[in-house]
Amino acid sequence: MGGTSRPAHLRRSNLVTLCRRCHDRVEAHPEVARALGYRLDRHQDPEETAVWASSVLGAGWTHLWDDGSVALSPLPAPAPAVSFTA
Ligand SMILES: [Zn+2]
Repeated sequence: MGGTSRPAHLRRSNLVTLCRRCHDRVEAHPEVARALGYRLDRHQDPEETAVWASSVLGAGWTHLWDDGSVALSPLPAPAPAVSFTA
């Protein structure tokens, strides 16, 4: 199991639970994952980067906050032009 010396990696806004299949897709397609908000560059703030997700709130660009709250983006935004393919 991997680890990190960067406390920022453990922020709640930086954590997304994925099933094995989705995790494998993120790992296999890093550029798609980056476009969908599942991979961030070190300089990116996870609270300021939405992730394309489907949840009980609906599907869309979703903001994750360090206090554990989740919100769909209040601004209409187009669906991403990329997607994971099997
Ligand atoms: Zn999945």
